[in-house]
Amino acid sequence: MSPLLRLKLAKQRGEAVLSEEKITELAVDPFEIAARHNIVVQAKPDTESGVSGMLLRHGNSFGILYASDIPNEGFQRFSVAHELGHYFLDGHIDHVLLNDDVHSSRAGFSSGDPYEQEADNFAVGLLMPAKLFTRLMGRSRLGLADIESARDICKTSLTATAIRYAELTDDAIAVILSTGRTIDYCILSETMKSLPDLTWLKRGSPVPTTSVTAQFNADSSRVLRAEREENEIDVLDWLGGKRSSIVTEEVVGLGRYGKTLTVLSSRKIGQDVYDDEEDDEQDLVEQWTPRFKK
Ligand SMILES: [Zn+2]
Repeated sequence: MSPLLRLKLAKQRGEAVLSEEKITELAVDPFEIAARHNIVVQAKPDTESGVSGMLLRHGNSFGILYASDIPNEGFQRFSVAHELGHYFLDGHIDHVLLNDDVHSSRAGFSSGDPYEQEADNFAVGLLMPAKLFTRLMGRSRLGLADIESARDICKTSLTATAIRYAELTDDAIAVILSTGRTIDYCILSETMKSLPDLTWLKRGSPVPTTSVTAQFNADSSRVLRAEREENEIDVLDWLGGKRSSIVTEEVVGLGRYGKTLTVLSSRKIGQDVYDDEEDDEQDLVEQWTPRFKK
């Protein structure tokens, strides 16, 4: 099975647990799901740096500890949901608790380990199931405001919500996480991906110098104070390609986390396929060819 398919299935397993538990409303409470399965959950304020939580086994009893030194409710709930992933996903208990009765996790899409990635994807499916999540979209202004309103309802972290939003929206959205001058990751919605010949912004790529984000990140105290900034920018400046289009660039500092979240959004991209006279046939062929990038 391909790694991408495994991640997709892990996400679906998270959604399936909701049907099994007959949970049909947001926010999903991972603490309550743990309690229903007699898993004891406790806060652990003194976890080693980078460790988000732990799964413990004693005989047939299970426990979850989650890092509580970062006072971010969304991240704590995600960490507990990640540990539930190890509990519910096939083969995880045997693998992560193979030699030991304690597994230490690094949740939040920072680990390259496939089991950690699967548990993260389980958490996404559990806390932000596609069906319920898509109903939340479009309640506020497109971009950061709509992502924040979904975050408030799901009680998830801003970054996890932004990634899920980009994955499920029909609008043109890019979600970029950066530290200083460097991009940590960039996730594009399907509609944003439809722009021809985009540059794929890989981990470690530089933040474009003309962007709002570059200016914002030049003063790290603004990141720390969780300030915001917004302006319009040509999508070419961020993502390359060959079709000029003005998008909104919204930037918010993530405080002590030391990172910046950038959201590019546009209602126009994806709507103007036919009024671009320069469109050559090749572009149309590309637009109508199904893409299997996920
Ligand atoms: Zn883990």
